[in-house]
Amino acid sequence: EDTDLVELVEQAADAFRATRAGHPLTVAPGPESVRLRLDPQRVRQVLDNLLTNAAVHTPAGTPVSVAVSVTPHSAQVRVADKGPGIPPGDRERVFDRFYRVDKARSRDRGGSGLGLAVARSLVRAHGGTLALDDTAAPTVFVLTLPLGPPRNS
Ligand code: ATP
Ligand code: MG
Repeated sequence: EDTDLVELVEQAADAFRATRAGHPLTVAPGPESVRLRLDPQRVRQVLDNLLTNAAVHTPAGTPVSVAVSVTPHSAQVRVADKGPGIPPGDRERVFDRFYRVDKARSRDRGGSGLGLAVARSLVRAHGGTLALDDTAAPTVFVLTLPLGPPRNS
């Protein structure tokens, strides 16, 4: 009953390509499969959220890329775009409920500012983390999930 994270990412990528044709999407070459115990619907929701943000908060045509990688103890999904980026002072706050960097612009795009707060709590419920990579520019979200049996808390 483990889920293949690579397959889940490919499904999210296919759905993105079908609905967000204005943004070319690349899935970087990586492991053939990464099996782990997770709630596929919830993790898919997180992936969709990050991909949707990369589309709606960047100009049309902005490329988006996704990469899956593994370490001995965790699996990582990086969702990167070449949009305007998120200013340093907003980088932690974008995970707060209802927080949007540019209120007027974000309202035009119909966002409520809940996406990342919900995504982070879904990831934490899996024992993982969701964060921005501050060493990468302009915008790279990093989803990390633990490998192996989930720890009891
Ligand atoms: P929704 O609840 O529909 O997701 P939202 O997209 O505005 O609304 P979040 O997904 O939580 O809310 O994102 C919060 C804010 O972070 C966005 O309003 C936007 O200002 C900023 N943001 C998120 N992703 C990106 C990105 N890839 N590039 C630039 N800014 C981003
Ligand atoms: Mg969003």
